[in-house]
Amino acid sequence: MAPTAPITQDVLTIPRAAPEGPVNLIGLTREQLAEALRGIGTPEKQIRMRTGQIWQWLYQKGVRSFDAMTNLAKPYRETLSQNFTIAVPEIVSRQVSEDGTRKYLVRIAGGHEVETVYIPEESRGTLCISSQVGCTLTCSFCHTGTQKLVRNLTSAEIIGQVMIARDDLGEWPEPGRAPKDETRLLSNIVLMGMGEPLYNFEAVRDAMKIAMDGEGISLSRRRITLSTSGVVPEIARTAEEIGCLLAVSFHGTTDAVRDRLVPINKKWNIETLLEALRAYPKLSNSERITFEYVMLKGVNDSDEDARRLVKLIRGIPAKINLIPFNEWPGAPYERSDWARIEAFADIVHKAGYASPIRTPRGEDIMAACGQLKSATERGRRSRAAIAADLGNG
Ligand code: SAH
Ligand code: SF4
Repeated sequence: MAPTAPITQDVLTIPRAAPEGPVNLIGLTREQLAEALRGIGTPEKQIRMRTGQIWQWLYQKGVRSFDAMTNLAKPYRETLSQNFTIAVPEIVSRQVSEDGTRKYLVRIAGGHEVETVYIPEESRGTLCISSQVGCTLTCSFCHTGTQKLVRNLTSAEIIGQVMIARDDLGEWPEPGRAPKDETRLLSNIVLMGMGEPLYNFEAVRDAMKIAMDGEGISLSRRRITLSTSGVVPEIARTAEEIGCLLAVSFHGTTDAVRDRLVPINKKWNIETLLEALRAYPKLSNSERITFEYVMLKGVNDSDEDARRLVKLIRGIPAKINLIPFNEWPGAPYERSDWARIEAFADIVHKAGYASPIRTPRGEDIMAACGQLKSATERGRRSRAAIAADLGNG
């Protein structure tokens, strides 16, 4: 699958990072925003209305300056700008794959970087966002797992990835025009970028609540999927406090294999994980848990594995997402052969489960699942690898 078309890359240099000091209004919950407005002396009677107005400017219209909030009196706008900022992360570079996938290198406070990936499809556009810089976990097939955890992202940095992708896609409604709905370019969010979202629960929750808020970005909770490696104690909370769909990185059908692939299995093994998933409350019958299963040649891809898998998940409304392994420099595994993946899918399918094979997207720009890693971190290891990643740009 060698890339044929040239990779385009451009650099946006609009400074957007927040200076230290004033409180950033992005990422605050509605309650926190109300509290912040109280703190600058907004009369109690006005708090609800002002919170709603500012919220709409930020998340429905996408404005980044208090001056643009024309339904607020000028002196009030001035008070706001003296006390607060509106800061989203900065897009350092954007690479566009031959298949249309866009990978953004995003700089956050402290000079750290994460990656955000936009995947256009016929019926939807999915943004894959990061929740941490690096990851504390060390799944042996994952590129991010080779990078240590640097820090958790803030809720502003998490929702900020959605906002800057909408900037880049030109998807804020024009004044006086209702936001597009079914035709939205950015219609789905998956928390499948760098990091383990359930190890940064509060920030992820607050950001996703902003994404779902009807007066803002307004995505349905069914259009948001959170992927976890299996942080069992936080799984029930995901349903209760966020209410989005859940995906689980399963990848192995025996504890011995899963221990090796997803080491968090040593803490919460397959049985414990399945118990938590059986209890995952569903708001409607059509909702299923996605089991992600990376196909590694000779490791977890036998017919026996497929049969064990369907036996294990019996009784759980599920869909099995088979992910052909995406290679990265120095990876200790190979992708299963296509015929093997299809044979595996067939067994799962015959057992009554949808078993889509995930088409790798954006491989030519290292944007596919599990290939993400901060370029700065890569740089510490190999400048040559970065040059290769960036298409020798
Ligand atoms: N930390 C979370 C979410 C990020 S990973 C989790 O582990 O679920 C998103 C998905 O990509 C996970 O299912 C992960 O197991 C998978 N993945 C990681 N590395 C991969 C690789 N090299 N090839 C294919 N899928 C990979
Ligand atoms: Fe972390 Fe997920 Fe990668 Fe495992 S697969 S190292 S949990 S990002």
